[in-house]
Amino acid sequence: MPNRKRSPAFVADAMLGKLTRWLRLLGAKVFFSESKNDDDAIKQAVKEKAVLLTRNEALAQKAGDYAKTVLFKTNDSFEQLRIVMRKFGLKANGAQSFALCPKCGGKIKRIVKAKVESRVFPRVFEQQRLFWACGKCKQIYWKGSHFKKITKKLEAIKRNASNRKTK
Ligand SMILES: [Zn+2]
Repeated sequence: MPNRKRSPAFVADAMLGKLTRWLRLLGAKVFFSESKNDDDAIKQAVKEKAVLLTRNEALAQKAGDYAKTVLFKTNDSFEQLRIVMRKFGLKANGAQSFALCPKCGGKIKRIVKAKVESRVFPRVFEQQRLFWACGKCKQIYWKGSHFKKITKKLEAIKRNASNRKTK
């Protein structure tokens, strides 16, 4: 029996790189399909029991028989994110911290400052106190101005998503 509280996994087609990064930041498990072959994305969605996210109408039609599919009519990644959050009840809890690595979907953990000195710009090292690292691709993260921008966007989306839900 599926755990109702856990959000589903997703397979995003090659056109949805931005959406993929957003969803991972929120902690959703997303497989990004870079393949040009439609069947690969469908196969992966079936294999992972994942929801297929796509901008491609032909792919959505083809996939519909095999996997749960969401077809986006919009190119706007925030609108796409809103749609997914609303449809699957995703929460923007990741807005306060990093959930999963936007680049690869790996787990992000705090890392002691001393360990990042050689891996970030000196200015960043001086200004930031806290650092995080992806366990998989080793990317280093910190809460700089870019993070603050993302957090603001996510908060706006979160408010928007819950407003629409309650109508
Ligand atoms: Zn990573």
